[in-house]
Amino acid sequence: MAVIIDGKAIAKRLRDAVAVQAANLETKGIIPGLAVILIGDDPASEIYVRNKERAAQKAGVNAQTIKYTADVSEVTVLMKIKELNLDPKIDAILVQSPVPAHINEELIQETIDPSKDVDGFHPENIGRLYANRSGYYPVANTPRGIMTMLAHEQIDLAGKNALVVGRSILVGRPMFALLQQANATVTLAHRYTPSDTLMHLLADADVVIVAVGQAGLIQGTSLKDGAVVIDVGINRLADGSLTGDVDFASAQEVAAAITPVPGGVGPMTIATLLQTTVELAAQHHQIELEQ
Ligand code: NDP
Repeated sequence: MAVIIDGKAIAKRLRDAVAVQAANLETKGIIPGLAVILIGDDPASEIYVRNKERAAQKAGVNAQTIKYTADVSEVTVLMKIKELNLDPKIDAILVQSPVPAHINEELIQETIDPSKDVDGFHPENIGRLYANRSGYYPVANTPRGIMTMLAHEQIDLAGKNALVVGRSILVGRPMFALLQQANATVTLAHRYTPSDTLMHLLADADVVIVAVGQAGLIQGTSLKDGAVVIDVGINRLADGSLTGDVDFASAQEVAAAITPVPGGVGPMTIATLLQTTVELAAQHHQIELEQ
């Protein structure tokens, strides 16, 4: 039976550590500032943003949400981002996804100052990640949170076969880059990966990270014995409950370790967002954080 990786507990430890760092900054008169732009009235996005705000306040991060109706013009949002880029009280800016179709998300990502790009979506930060540059730069919070989890579980990645399923800019692509930085041999599968190829890849993977958004995509019978399985997917079933992309019951029989949904990757994402916000604040004030 697999060890269940307790994302909630690991996230709590991280949030507590971040709160200590934020309190240290406060003694120097610095309160990390996070600006969240929320466009439209998507109920799921509203819940995510409320959770982020709540977690931020608890950690000593000053979070403010700027709300726009779905018909806001692109130029209004871009102007606001430029204003926030210049605001010394704001260290981190994020625009909650999804944005309405008339707003160019790439332009939004490229307008955020790379030093305030808390989601790590600016091409400059993605370039640094892919080039494995030294120095500090923000990295997408979900994959970074997964790396924190793997480190917490003392899972050594060097030389391991790692398979990432899904190649979004939010999860799959930065995950690929982080795993190869950790010296794993990484494969990235996606929609065009034939299912028999996916089965071969799964059978050979020591570490599997799935971020697709399809309940039951991966069954335990497809996994290698002793694999580490990280399920990023969040899918709502007809009865209202949440489930991941991996069939938990069958995977648990085969895997060495597995994350549950909910209670796995999700809590790590918010905790890592706060971690990145505090780091950006420290960067802006050229202060070294104690780890
Ligand atoms: P996207 O829809 O942006 O990307 C999904 C990826 O899955 C795409 O790269 C797509 O390939 C690939 N894909 C689709 N079908 C298949 C298939 N049959 N086999 C292999 N790959 C496939 O989603 P996100 O990355 O934003 O999110 C993925 C899931 O993770 C969602 O359920 C989301 O809710 C969840 N999520 C959870 C987070 C958390 O904190 N727990 C945070 C972020 C996301 P292609 O590129 O070819 O289209």
